[in-house]
Amino acid sequence: MNDCCYNPQEKMLTTDEAIRFLLERSAAIDKVETVKTLDALGRVLALPVTSTLNVPPLDNSAMDGYVTRFADLNNDGETSLPISQRIAAGYVGDKLQEGTAARIFTGAPVPEGADTIIMQEQCAQQDDTVVISGKINKGDHIRRAGEDITQGSEVMSVGQKLRPQDMGLIASVGIADIKVFKKVRVAIFSTGDELLMPGEAVQPGKIYNSNRYTLTGLLQKAGCEIIDLGCIADDLDATVVAMKHAAAQADIIMTTGGVSVGEEDYIKLAIDKLGSVEMWRVAMKPGKPVAFGEVDKTPFIGLPGNPVSVFVTFCLFARAVIRRMQGCHDVLPRKMQVVAGFDWPRKGPRREFVRGQLQLDEHGQQQAQIYASQSSGVLTSTTWAQGIIEIPEDTTVKQGDVLNWLDFSELLS
Ligand code: AMP
Ligand code: MG
Repeated sequence: MNDCCYNPQEKMLTTDEAIRFLLERSAAIDKVETVKTLDALGRVLALPVTSTLNVPPLDNSAMDGYVTRFADLNNDGETSLPISQRIAAGYVGDKLQEGTAARIFTGAPVPEGADTIIMQEQCAQQDDTVVISGKINKGDHIRRAGEDITQGSEVMSVGQKLRPQDMGLIASVGIADIKVFKKVRVAIFSTGDELLMPGEAVQPGKIYNSNRYTLTGLLQKAGCEIIDLGCIADDLDATVVAMKHAAAQADIIMTTGGVSVGEEDYIKLAIDKLGSVEMWRVAMKPGKPVAFGEVDKTPFIGLPGNPVSVFVTFCLFARAVIRRMQGCHDVLPRKMQVVAGFDWPRKGPRREFVRGQLQLDEHGQQQAQIYASQSSGVLTSTTWAQGIIEIPEDTTVKQGDVLNWLDFSELLS
């Protein structure tokens, strides 16, 4: 795409061009704060975590049992050995005397001089003697020092969005506080004179504002701080005021609705007054009208109004922008491949993002099925689905074809 000649009003971008366009214009916020490792779920690491230790710190037992020298075992029959000590997890034992065994428990350090652990199922204790039987190999059941992490190694890199297992790994090297990027503050508002808030009485001609709830959940899942400016009437002045208000306090503004070119669509007009709109049509279904721009240097994403379009365009575009702003190293969702369990006979010039489920066919093979209505107003398609199937531009699909699949576990993270 040649930016110098690009007129946002004329060109319709492909989905891939739109994502590239957005990411080229998005940058990490780069403000850092310290949080407790225990509170770090979903935060993005701003400094690498390097281990000052080996994990585990010492060779230790993987079993409850007995520890001895392999050389002292009669490996074909039974061996009787006096029990010289007892070593529990958390305590370092004495050097093992030759010709003896020590009682040992899972996690306890292997004493100096010993090299083999025998699980207690192969042992019978009689007073101060243990009788060991069965096949034993030298070095059995020993977890080696540093087998998980070696001293001095980087265990986690900048840009990692922390998952529960990441928190555990950081804790395992003894680090209680970490540096993370500050949360991205997202100012949101919905537009539409037709909108009622859930809890309000039904009124003729009105619908409940579902987008506010969907967008809130999506942003919470993405780990953002939300500044909710509520619902704005279909009015240029009100939209301009809300935009200014949003730009003054947020890192990014996100709106729903009012982004097309209808007479009641004021988002684009408001941004034109305050800043610039850089893109507003994407060749995709659902969700053609998507806007990206800037108000007082604050980036802006205008999502469509149709509830399914909000969900899909957030997952494809807004999620990537937010992750870039968060400083994540993985900004795009991983795609998987699935086998279509459906036919899609009508091809179209826009890429379709179809809501689907993974089901097992009669042979136990996994295949993707799609929700009966793919209308951008049918929000039930998103709650029924487990992911989104990509149907490429100008393509028909037959059962058995392989298609890209974007799993919700990936998109809603
Ligand atoms: P718009 O882009 O503003 O023309 O909206 C497109 C469609 O989405 C219309 O049918 C609107 O009524 C509907 N819509 C817009 N905003 C919301 C919302 N917050 N919740 C539910 N539906 C909405
Ligand atoms: Mg509207």
